[in-house]
Amino acid sequence: MKRLWLALAAAAVVAGVAIAQTLPPSWIKPAAPVKIGDNLYYVGSEGLAAYLIVTPKGLILIDGTMEQNVPAIEANIRALGFKLSDVDILLNTHAHFDHAAGLARLKKDTGAGLLASAGDKPLLERGVYPGSEDVAWLRFPPVKVDHVLKDRDTVTLGGVTLTAHVTPGHTPGCTTWTFPVKIDGVVRKAIILCSTTVAANRLAPRPQYPVIVADYQATFTRLAGMKADVFLAPHPEQFGFAGKLAARAPGKPSPFVDPAELGRRVAASRAEFEAELARQQKAAP
Ligand SMILES: [Zn+2]
Repeated sequence: MKRLWLALAAAAVVAGVAIAQTLPPSWIKPAAPVKIGDNLYYVGSEGLAAYLIVTPKGLILIDGTMEQNVPAIEANIRALGFKLSDVDILLNTHAHFDHAAGLARLKKDTGAGLLASAGDKPLLERGVYPGSEDVAWLRFPPVKVDHVLKDRDTVTLGGVTLTAHVTPGHTPGCTTWTFPVKIDGVVRKAIILCSTTVAANRLAPRPQYPVIVADYQATFTRLAGMKADVFLAPHPEQFGFAGKLAARAPGKPSPFVDPAELGRRVAASRAEFEAELARQQKAAP
C-alpha cells in the first residue's frame, strides 16, 4: 500500500513537471506597454495580461501574472512615466498562479494594498489551487489580502470607479471588473472578464470544489445579461489582442471598441463548458 502511494506520488510529480515545462513560452516573454484608452494600459507579458488604470490620484494594477514577469511589469510602469510607489491598489481577476504569482512581489515593491473577494482570499493567502492544494506546480507565493470585496462592491481612486462582479466557477471568488475607459474621445464601459474556461478544473465526478458546476452556470447566465463596449480578459488571446493591435490605424475607430464581443465570447465559452461537463460526466466511472 505504501509502495503504491509512493509510486502515485512520483507519477504526480513527474506529470506536474511535464505540464509545468510545457507552459507557453509567451507567458514569460516581456512585452512593451500598450495604450488601450486614455486611462488604461496593457502592461503584462506577451501571453499574460496585466492592466494599469491611471487616475489623477494614483494607479490601479489588475493582475500580477507570474513572478518572473514582475521586473518587466515594473519596467513598463516606469516606461509610462510613473513610479512604482504611484501604484496604490492591486486587484486580481482570480487566484491562479498565472495571474496571481507576481502579486506578492508587486505588493512589496509598490507598497499598494491588495483587495480581493472572500472566495479567493484564502487561496491568495495560501498560494494554492482550490481542490489541488497539494499540486506543487500550481502553487504560487502567498500574498496577504488587505481588504475583502463583496459582489458589486466598488473601488474608487482619483474619481475612477471600478465595480467588482463576483463571477465564480473558474475559481470560487473569480472577479470580473467593469470601469469607464476613454477611447477615441468617448467614455466607454470596459469589462475585464475574470475567466470562464474550465482549464485544469475537475467538474465531475469529484468536483474541484462542491458547487463549481452551479457556480459556472450562474456566472454564464449573469454575464449573458451584462453589457460592455470594450472586452478584455486575463489571457490576451481571449480577446484577440494581437489582431486588434494589428488592426489599429490612425484615423480609424479603435478595434478595442466592440459592444457585441462580450456576448459572443460568453456564448462560446458556455458551449465549451457544457461540452466539457458532458465529457467529464461521461468519462466518470
Ligand atoms: Zn485561471
